Amino acid sequence: MKKIVIVGGGAGGLELATKLGNKLGRKGKALITLVDKNRTHLWKPLLHEVAAGSLDHGIDSLSYRAHAKNHFFNFKLAALSDIDRDNKIIKLDKLIDTDGTEILPESELSYDILVMALGSVSNDFNTKGVSDNCIFLDSPQQAKKFHHLMLNKYLQLGVKETNQVSVAIVGAGATGVELSAELYNSLEQVSSYGFEHIDTTDLKVSLVEAGEKILPALPERISGQAHQELLKLGVDVRTKTMVTEATDKGLMTKSGELIEADLIVWAAGIKAPNFLKEIAGLETNRINQLVVKATLQTTLDDTIYAIGDCASCALPNGGFVPPRAQSAHQMASLVAKNIIATLKDKPVTNYKYTDYGSLVSLSNYSTVGSLMGNLTKGSMKVEGRVARLVYVSLYRMHQVALHGYVKTTLMTIVERINRVLRPRLKLH
Ligand SMILES: Cc1cc2nc3c(=O)[nH]c(=O)nc-3n(C[C@H](O)[C@H](O)[C@H](O)COP(=O)(O)OP(=O)(O)OC[C@H]3O[C@@H](n4cnc5c(N)ncnc54)[C@H](O)[C@@H]3O)c2cc1C
Repeated sequence: MKKIVIVGGGAGGLELATKLGNKLGRKGKALITLVDKNRTHLWKPLLHEVAAGSLDHGIDSLSYRAHAKNHFFNFKLAALSDIDRDNKIIKLDKLIDTDGTEILPESELSYDILVMALGSVSNDFNTKGVSDNCIFLDSPQQAKKFHHLMLNKYLQLGVKETNQVSVAIVGAGATGVELSAELYNSLEQVSSYGFEHIDTTDLKVSLVEAGEKILPALPERISGQAHQELLKLGVDVRTKTMVTEATDKGLMTKSGELIEADLIVWAAGIKAPNFLKEIAGLETNRINQLVVKATLQTTLDDTIYAIGDCASCALPNGGFVPPRAQSAHQMASLVAKNIIATLKDKPVTNYKYTDYGSLVSLSNYSTVGSLMGNLTKGSMKVEGRVARLVYVSLYRMHQVALHGYVKTTLMTIVERINRVLRPRLKLH
């Protein structure tokens, strides 16, 4: 039986494992194994909500092991460290517990087809002091750490000469913009849980962007609108501001200014994990992404596919497929088809990226963005309730891909019930 190994159970990899498990694993036509370094999955675009405390990672994440059982694939808890292409084996790191003790030694797993779906990490562009003084939103653990530190700062308000909590966010892409708004929303919630002395004037968020405008990938009118919304909330939006160093006091800018901050979040671009740069002699680009052909097979090895943020896939008219959840979702569907075709000795097909537009949620305050459609023959500006509905439906699409329509509907109902039963904010 052919062995299909998928490394990385995120927006793309988990959908792919689920599809292949249901189509091939169920009938014993292939042995599918998903490898991830974490025990649970949380859809990455929700991380800014975990950071702000509006989402409880413990409740909203999914157990890989339970999901694997329900969808006829195996799950292996381990981190990939290398690939031996000659022997078609992947190498897995030792499994280390949180206290540093070794749970399992290094191991290996053989494959006939390998799919790399490891995602990305924040790119600090080697800026001085960033790794020591900034928090990245690359994983639920990091988002939870930020939330914990934020709650500590609220506890200190009014005590220990702390009169204001200041947060600097570097990078005004969707992550930075959404987090800025979410922090004000969570502060409003916090004040109703025993922090009555706190109001929104106690929080200062500085959003720092090197480019001309916030949300650089979106049309001018949408970024302009989001900019105005952030100003209304009280966010100090700094465009054309280049950060040269991060220190324990805040951010130093190219013009020599210090933007003071108690906490700094770095969200200024992505790269694939560093160890991919030289992995198994495969072709990579300057941000460590594996270069793939239009079929999503890596350029030097047809038995290895790459999808999502760790893949560099050229668009026919120039540019590259953007590192977004919708790209990972679409790539997972194509690779599922191509793997099934290969097993039937049929030809593989090319990936065609479809841009459905971009939406940015300014927490409960507003949602803005543009949708691409055949009807409009281009992009159509959307905002308010319609935009919010479409924004939420992106996550629902991911849930439907994992659980099907019936279970997703039930989960939506449970979420509504939880909104009544549980606090609106994670308070610990
Ligand atoms: C705060 C935030 C908000 C975002 N908002 C949006 C949005 O609104 N819309 C949108 O389209 N995109 C958004 N994105 C981008 C989106 O999350 C990514 O493009 C998408 O998750 C990429 O999917 P992926 O499958 O490539 O990787 P991921 O979803 O990141 O999954 C990668 C998986 O690989 C695992 N892994 C990593 N290294 C190893 C290893 N060595 N061994 C084993 N497993 C490993 C990880 O544990 C993880 O489970 C956002 C990102 C962030 C951080």
